[in-house]
Amino acid sequence: MAKMDLNLILLGGPGAGKGTQASRIVDSMDLVHLSTGDILREEVSEGTELGRQAKEYMDRGDLVPDELIIDMVSNKLDQDSGYLFDGFPRTISQAEELEDVLEIDKVIYINISKEEAVRRLSARRVCSECGEIYNLLFDKPSEPGVCDKCNGELYQRSDDRPEVIRNRFETFLEQSAPLIDFYRDRGTLVEVDGEREPGEIFEEVRSAIS
Ligand code: AMP
Repeated sequence: MAKMDLNLILLGGPGAGKGTQASRIVDSMDLVHLSTGDILREEVSEGTELGRQAKEYMDRGDLVPDELIIDMVSNKLDQDSGYLFDGFPRTISQAEELEDVLEIDKVIYINISKEEAVRRLSARRVCSECGEIYNLLFDKPSEPGVCDKCNGELYQRSDDRPEVIRNRFETFLEQSAPLIDFYRDRGTLVEVDGEREPGEIFEEVRSAIS
């Protein structure tokens, strides 16, 4: 795949399908996928100092403080390629820091309701080996608990419990939804209806970024 000189952001509340769309996008475009949630979960599982500090916020469904996130992302921005940001930025202050160092070409805002978020996330399972995402409602693995791609064991994220999901959704509305207008003002926002089949959403995303 040819290297892309394009920087994209996937914006959306919990359960909007950012991770699912991200894996489709990076399968077809040579972008570095940077998911702050994935990096934080790795830090937690490795027991690093950052992971220890982040865990208490993540377990409640609150945002990890901006300073920690901005440092963490700055350390990753060393590739000679475009980026697909997934779950970052989540606050205006993170977005302002980001625009100081990179030009963002498109922001895909995937819009879903709180009810749909709770329904989907309660049924989400993730592969512990390769990170592939399944959903027991509409995208089940062939064998229960086992990843189709790599045979890894599937698990439920500890923040995918209904009470935490509700708080994550409220956090999105309070702290991240202002980013919708922030990017709309910059002319980079593309809004897609996230309450459809992943394939249908991807077609819309693809035509918006090509
Ligand atoms: P995600 O996998 O994107 O849903 O992120 C899981 C959790 O990690 C969130 O609920 C937050 O606690 C934390 N997190 C991920 N990305 C960020 C970010 N950009 N800013 C603050 N907290 C974040």
